[in-house]
Amino acid sequence: MSDAVIVWFRRDLRLRDNESLDAALRSLRPGEAIVPLYVTGGAAQAHGTASSAWLAAAVRALDATLRSRGSRLLIADGPAHEALARASAEVRAERVYCTRHWTPEALAEETAVRDGLSSAGVGLHVSEGQLVMVPGTVLTREGRPYKVFTPFFREWSRVIADMAASSGGPARQSALPAPARWPDCAPLPPSSGGGIADLWTPGEAGARVRLGMFIADEIDGYARSHDRADLDATSRLSPHLAFGEVSVRNVVSSAMKERGEGASAFVRQIAWRDFAYHVLHAFPGLPDTPLNARFARLPWREDALNADAWMSGLTGFPLVDAGMRELAQTGWMHNRARLLVGSFLSKDLLERWQIGERHFRERLVDADTALNAFNWQWVAGCGADAAPFFRIFNPVVQGAKVDPEGEYVRRWVPELAGLPPRWIHRPWDAPAAELSRAGVRPGDTYPNRLVDHAAARERALSAYRATR
Ligand code: FAD
Repeated sequence: MSDAVIVWFRRDLRLRDNESLDAALRSLRPGEAIVPLYVTGGAAQAHGTASSAWLAAAVRALDATLRSRGSRLLIADGPAHEALARASAEVRAERVYCTRHWTPEALAEETAVRDGLSSAGVGLHVSEGQLVMVPGTVLTREGRPYKVFTPFFREWSRVIADMAASSGGPARQSALPAPARWPDCAPLPPSSGGGIADLWTPGEAGARVRLGMFIADEIDGYARSHDRADLDATSRLSPHLAFGEVSVRNVVSSAMKERGEGASAFVRQIAWRDFAYHVLHAFPGLPDTPLNARFARLPWREDALNADAWMSGLTGFPLVDAGMRELAQTGWMHNRARLLVGSFLSKDLLERWQIGERHFRERLVDADTALNAFNWQWVAGCGADAAPFFRIFNPVVQGAKVDPEGEYVRRWVPELAGLPPRWIHRPWDAPAAELSRAGVRPGDTYPNRLVDHAAARERALSAYRATR
């Protein structure tokens, strides 16, 4: 005899288009209640300061939404297998529903939970839904995982072609059946207050507003403008997607309904997200171990002062510093800036890419095991479908492309704000009169360059040749 069904929320912090919640509701027998549960310290938790603050706010938001449906979110301390065994005994549940989270740790946690529950006669029912395509289902003709994005994307696109037709699920307005008595539980995670999570609106409602605004105002121009760091031209859905506050299928179907080159370019980025998870699934060591073993032999420099200057946005390269300061102040960074600062750390400074991977994990609100590791390996040249090592971004050339008027630099590196577009990405070349007019004193108000890019490029290439 069961009194309740547990819905174990992990990286699916939403009610709408949530397959595991839908499956739990469909399974309800007369007299059974839904018990929503979140386990702190589980494998789906956030690991960095910024993403933990986001997660705390998103969990609180989920509780508020559940309360508006006559329910609430129970909080239990991990480990998950113990928390779920305790909770299912306490509320007399015979079934637990959850959405799979595709990291190696979360898959191991799922196995431990399944084993723990089954010995108590409780079933674990797992839904997909974190990704558009399940890892391991998009394979080469030989049945191997793709290491190159373009053929992966071709196959992926074929499968998702009819997604525009899907509605993304109904908005869940109706009450959720609650138990007669809620068991005692741990308190909600405290809100960080005043932190960078306050610049955003974590949670399902915030995600829906963000998606709606992007579709209404920006998706048309996305293909043209998404590489411009100075414009607000991308969706900024990444933290909402990282915590599952909106379903990725809903995002894709909303975009596909718009048609046009903007929608296509946007959906292609979502395919990169799936690709990163497919690669992590095939190569679980992705966050630490270079996929191309040659890179384990690279003579990295290990200069702590340089790495610190990079983290603090004090490299003397305005676009690099702008990106790093945007990250420090907002918990987010434009994708082009992420690529540039990644190339700069791993190639110009010749510091291990893992330093950057860890720093991003700590500071990004959207910190995501698969996307972060995949992209760091990509930009360092050692991953799946990587940019070759010798493609080394030139910060000045990149400045002209992604921030032609220097507005992005002006916003995040205000000490250079007075410089005209011609010099703002290379203050070291600016005539003394221009510097003085702008109030810039190199080495005093703004640091001198850590390296000369041309020389650093040569140094990186010879380090790379040494790995042969
Ligand atoms: P949009 O341009 O609106 O794209 C929509 C969605 O597509 C994004 O929200 C994201 O889910 C996905 N996407 C976009 N670009 C990529 C990409 N290059 N790879 C995989 N998926 C992508 N993204 C994270 O969410 N978490 C991370 O920890 C993360 N670390 C990164 C580290 C490096 C070194 C680099 C170069 C990129 C990283 N990215 C990461 C990918 C990308 O920069 C962000 O997803 C994007 O900037 C988020 O902004 P947006 O939501 O406005 O993107």
